[in-house]
Amino acid sequence: MRHVAVLTSGGDAPGMNAAIRAVVRCGVAKGWGMYGVHNGYSGLISGNIREMGTRDVGGILQKGGTILGSARCEEFKTENGRRKAIRIMSQSGIDTLVVIGGNGSQTGSFHLNKLGFPVVGIASTIDNDLCGSEMTIGVDTALNIALEAIDRLKVTASSHHRAFLIEVMGRKCGYIALMAGLAGGAEYVLLPEIEIDPEEVAESLRLAYEKGKEHAIIVVAEGAKYNADALTAYFDNNKERLGFKIRATILGHVQRGGAPGAFDRILASRFGNGAIEAIDRGESGVLVGLNKGKITTTPLEEVVGKTKEISMEMVKLAHILD
Ligand code: ADP
Repeated sequence: MRHVAVLTSGGDAPGMNAAIRAVVRCGVAKGWGMYGVHNGYSGLISGNIREMGTRDVGGILQKGGTILGSARCEEFKTENGRRKAIRIMSQSGIDTLVVIGGNGSQTGSFHLNKLGFPVVGIASTIDNDLCGSEMTIGVDTALNIALEAIDRLKVTASSHHRAFLIEVMGRKCGYIALMAGLAGGAEYVLLPEIEIDPEEVAESLRLAYEKGKEHAIIVVAEGAKYNADALTAYFDNNKERLGFKIRATILGHVQRGGAPGAFDRILASRFGNGAIEAIDRGESGVLVGLNKGKITTTPLEEVVGKTKEISMEMVKLAHILD
């Protein structure tokens, strides 16, 4: 009989609860002892661990955030911190850890695994910057929230003949910005991965205005060199050339707080089951992800220290359609 603990770490993502539920219930179905660690790696180091049964994860499938809480933990970045975590888990009889989280969290799970403790990661971040999974938990919901905001801003933009700069999350990865721009019909998308001259944006706004467009939408990734603030400051000195009046909206954490949509609930449920099946096969030091429609495992060493590249095919399409 195995004893498996699960934690959520780093930025929360809609669908994390569905993943916790699936890990616990699929583990219980195998007759294993299942445990929840509260507040990420800090809870692991302080021993904030409780046994969980199927009822403890009831009623959470539709909730955003994470019932286990998440935290950022500097101590875990040190070998001493990780050794402390291993001691705590061993004292509680825990033999495997499931880590639901993004790039930073999976770097932590990789280093924990290197110290000899079995770990399986689940790809979860709204940024979709994690290698080893085409889609991560939370991306689809965050994208839909960004889209809803774009659609609403378009309505008010049309009434006032304005251009809106909408800044979306994604750290150094432009995935959400590109996809929101594509699905939201943006005039221009600014990504961290591609350097642009702000004059190009000014030119595209001016052309849209001259064509008689009632509004213009520019989607900006938070990690782009010209984010919403930088671009607003740049345009402030060049107002008369643009035609439109410019307003900026920064969506920020609003994108994270939503109830998970069907895609994220199903993806998270499959990932949770995938983690338990991987543990049952004796795998460790791997990330559970989605590739070509299938649930896969990828060695963590192939995942850490990298960021997923943006699809140039999608960038091209966004330009054709704008
Ligand atoms: P995310 O998982 O969303 O990318 P962070 O980058 O904030 O979130 O990382 C979450 C936590 O993972 C950190 O607070 C830390 O405890 C752990 N972590 C991040 N990087 C490392 C590392 N290089 N070594 C060990 N642990 C790490």
